[in-house]
Amino acid sequence: MSLTGKAALVTGASRGIGRAIALGLAEAGCAVACIASRKENAADVVSEITAGGGKALAIGADVGSLAAAEEAVSRCIAEFGSLDVLVNNAGIARDQLILRMTEEEWDQVITTNLKGAWNFAKAAAKPMMKARWGRIINLSSIVGLSGQAGQTNYAAAKAGLIGLTMSLAKEFGSRGITCNAVAPGFIETDMTQGLPNEMREQILKSAPVGRLGTPEDVAAAVLFLAGEGASYITGQVLVVDGGLTL
Ligand code: NAD
Repeated sequence: MSLTGKAALVTGASRGIGRAIALGLAEAGCAVACIASRKENAADVVSEITAGGGKALAIGADVGSLAAAEEAVSRCIAEFGSLDVLVNNAGIARDQLILRMTEEEWDQVITTNLKGAWNFAKAAAKPMMKARWGRIINLSSIVGLSGQAGQTNYAAAKAGLIGLTMSLAKEFGSRGITCNAVAPGFIETDMTQGLPNEMREQILKSAPVGRLGTPEDVAAAVLFLAGEGASYITGQVLVVDGGLTL
């Protein structure tokens, strides 16, 4: 699949799934604006892309800020001439049962995981509409489809992303812009590092493919949705969980 000549913006590109997505898009020929909370955190992934002959740019931005999102989109367009593929990947977890969860933990997760995606979609809307081509891909989660004890904030944000995805698909469909969500299961990254052993064992037993996912498994789904071949797919949730939720 080739995305040569296109420009992508990936939030939370410094590590884990976002990093694999940025590297995958670069390999497919995209120039990639790599967003991290702090610019220096995206330096490694940018170096890896440019060392391989690709184009990349590190941008520091808190996704929870609309002004920062607008600034990042403007910088991407100034540097690469367009913004064709937006991947809203940045996310955090602050898990607690509701009785112990603080208002701050609720707000932090909703602001980063849900408002962050809205901010970047809003900032990307005008240039994509003008170009009459665009791909928006939001990183949801299987817990956004099923809920999870201890994750009222996270699951609500991930379910909210699905509503956002379907609504954007309806707003943008006639403009050549698709919007889809990818819902990973358990993927080996920093976010799942602290998973209790018995939960890990349970997942390994329940997932038909018998392993946890890799960031590259998720990146492959994002790349598919970003490609020309996915132009008739919009408003969908692609579950990438090794069959865990079957
Ligand atoms: P990670 O913790 O390894 O990486 C998250 C990235 O988001 C980091 O680069 C971090 O710096 C960035 N980030 C966090 N807050 C930010 C902010 N305010 N502004 C800018 N950047 C910010 O996580 P991951 O496992 O790679 O997860 C990536 C996405 O996939 C997240 O949205 C996560 O919710 C989702 N997801 C992960 C899993 C999993 O099992 N790992 C499962 C389902 C969904």
